[in-house]
Amino acid sequence: QAKERGRSRVETFSLTLQHNATKRAQMDVALRFALDRDELSLCYQPKVSLIDGSVLGFELLLRWRSEEYGDIPPSEFIPIAESSGIIIPIGLWVLEQACWQLNRWQSEAGDRNHLTVAVNVSMRQLMQPSFLSDVAEILARTGIAASSLELEVTETSAMANPAQTAETMAALKTLGIRLALDDFGTGYSSLAYLQSLPIDVLKIDKTFVSHLGKQQNDDAIVRLIIALAKTLHLEIVAEGVENKAQMHELQKLGCLIGQGHYFSPPMKQHEAEKLLRANRQFLQA
Ligand code: C2E
Ligand code: MG
Ligand code: MG
Ligand code: MG
Repeated sequence: QAKERGRSRVETFSLTLQHNATKRAQMDVALRFALDRDELSLCYQPKVSLIDGSVLGFELLLRWRSEEYGDIPPSEFIPIAESSGIIIPIGLWVLEQACWQLNRWQSEAGDRNHLTVAVNVSMRQLMQPSFLSDVAEILARTGIAASSLELEVTETSAMANPAQTAETMAALKTLGIRLALDDFGTGYSSLAYLQSLPIDVLKIDKTFVSHLGKQQNDDAIVRLIIALAKTLHLEIVAEGVENKAQMHELQKLGCLIGQGHYFSPPMKQHEAEKLLRANRQFLQA
């Protein structure tokens, strides 16, 4: 009987796998047409100063509304796009959109010159030999200040290819753009490696932020990451700030920038524009 149960469990498991594989293959095909079919869009999540509540910039997050499959989250379609390589044209599209948006903001109002846009970049893109010249070309075409563009690479993906990542990042740095290590704290990078990377920003992974303000010592990792960032002269951004307690805790620990649903979920472009026009200060709200 136990054997029977065991077998049926195995069967269910492999059926699920097969189903997943089929779904993945179907999505892979659909994703190839997504750009041409105008199914991709970007949303904007504000990065907020924890000192005065002002909007410092936005992270751009990709959305896919598939005709066949509906809304698919990035956690599902980005890995597929990476393994097929379709992330390369998609990633360039994201980058170009981001730079044109910034161009509009920068020419609209002089005092918005400090605004930054952050774009997520996958390892597959970073390892593309033409990536550096592609980025340079987009910067030239859109005419934005390179220092207003930030590229985010996850710590885990950087660690998958540490030497090449460091090399490519160094080359990208010569363009004058900013570099961030995303989901920091989840990827096991060594201090020595961190120091060798020409990065400007550490983004504390939201799992650590979510633990803040609950129990004693829950701030240990965040405290450590902030100390590390200070030692290495890096800017620090907390992601996934969901409530006031977490924000207060972050302020207490000396984290100056936050992002998360407590301030705003990722929003549509026109909402981001409205936010900027209103000059909204999040801490006074
Ligand atoms: P990420 O870069 O770490 O982005 C932050 C994620 O946290 C986003 O998920 C965002 O919607 C979510 N988030 C923001 N505030 C909160 C909060 O308060 N609580 C919680 N629980 N979550 C919050 P999203 O948009 O689903 O994106 C997931 C990941 O997909 C991103 O993580 C990034 O790694 C990847 N991604 C998104 N857009 C792109 C893109 O254009 N290119 C590439 N290569 N990757 C992308
Ligand atoms: Mg990110
Ligand atoms: Mg992140
Ligand atoms: Mg993430």
